[in-house]
Amino acid sequence: MDFLRPATWQEALSARADRPGAAPVQGGTDVMVEINFDVRRPEALLDLTRVPELGRWEIVDGVYRIGANVTYARVITELGGALPGLAQAARTVGSPQIRNRGTVGGNLGAASPAGDSHPPLLAAGAVVEAESRDGGVRLIPAEEFYLGVKRSALRPDELIRAIRVRPAPGPQYFSKVGTRNAMVIAVCSFAIALDPAARRAGTGIGSAAPTPRRALEAEEFLAAELDWDAPLPPALARRFGELCARAADPIDDVRGTAAYRRHAVAVLARRTLGWAWDDHLGRRAA
Ligand SMILES: Cc1cc2nc3c(=O)[nH]c(=O)nc-3n(C[C@H](O)[C@H](O)[C@H](O)COP(=O)(O)OP(=O)(O)OC[C@H]3O[C@@H](n4cnc5c(N)ncnc54)[C@H](O)[C@@H]3O)c2cc1C
Repeated sequence: MDFLRPATWQEALSARADRPGAAPVQGGTDVMVEINFDVRRPEALLDLTRVPELGRWEIVDGVYRIGANVTYARVITELGGALPGLAQAARTVGSPQIRNRGTVGGNLGAASPAGDSHPPLLAAGAVVEAESRDGGVRLIPAEEFYLGVKRSALRPDELIRAIRVRPAPGPQYFSKVGTRNAMVIAVCSFAIALDPAARRAGTGIGSAAPTPRRALEAEEFLAAELDWDAPLPPALARRFGELCARAADPIDDVRGTAAYRRHAVAVLARRTLGWAWDDHLGRRAA
């Protein structure tokens, strides 16, 4: 198996165009497991860890542009204040070792319905920045990125360059159900992001459908029904949970039944809305 080690972004894009059978690798926490278990045997590995741009984040016109190779550990320590939903999700990923190697870019590259970054990226309206040597830069909204189980809108000659996310305009929460607290793939997960100025709430459902997805009807319900100056009526929170559960399309598998997942999505949605609402009212009172 060839091992390609580009030192620059342009070299990486050329290698991607010339060797479409080469698997990009960053933290390797998905790729190397798949190779070890013979799930895949790519003709080559395209190691992106030496490309400096991918390991940096910056703020461009007020938007965070996070290089694809920024690890979960760095999202937690460096970006937790601006992107609390994503940082909460990062804290639940694997173990310290996985968080030190694994990246949000790699989570997107794998496009697993159970990936923990996806719900907060959907809820916050993130955009994936992809690029190819011959096609240039393409900006893909997170909600258009996930096409099927482990299938994304990324073209064969494209690499993920960065993820673009606005700093949280309001409270954000992520919550996940697993069989224990660490080192588990989510049975299901949910993220919420409030935007009090726009009077809107974004949502993201994980591990309860073939792809991560938003609960659009639930978002519209909140936009129409919420009084942003008042306490959260319990009946409204319950209805929100029900609508989120209705947006899910889960399966029965070894981790949980479809019925349990749907129920759990409703509970997670109601709880995270409650936590976010408490923060929202608390900030107004402060
Ligand atoms: C023990 C263990 C526990 C785990 N726990 C969790 C968990 O709790 N939650 C969770 O979500 N995940 C978990 N994972 C899965 C994995 O850690 C995550 O998906 C992680 O985000 C992958 O990032 P990476 O940088 O290691 O990706 P890599 O393994 O390097 O790559 C992952 C995929 O993305 C592609 N890719 C990488 N970089 C790019 C790029 N720049 N452009 C295009 N494609 C690219 C690769 O070809 C590959 O298909 C776990 C894995 C292990 C081994």
